Amino acid sequence: MVVHASRRSIAHLSMRRVPKAARTSELLRACAWCERIAVGGCWIAPDVAIQQLRTYEWSEPPRFTHGACDTCLENLLRRRELSIGGALATNESVAR
Ligand SMILES: [Zn+2]
Repeated sequence: MVVHASRRSIAHLSMRRVPKAARTSELLRACAWCERIAVGGCWIAPDVAIQQLRTYEWSEPPRFTHGACDTCLENLLRRRELSIGGALATNESVAR
């Protein structure tokens, strides 16, 4: 599943220079769930990140580390709360 960056985040990104660190051998951070890439404080779609970072001009292929973007982290935490809540409800009904 790929979530595309909003127009606002793309516009915000295009007004800023690509961070110098992104052009070096430092790792790019990708969301392990939706594959968005963290660039300049925004999580953007991979195709947009490729265009913005111009990775095709890098002397070496980009290297990645993985994490969770804000949206996916929020969804994961929400699901965990539901899971824990369901387990607690089940335990309460067993205890009665
Ligand atoms: Zn994500």
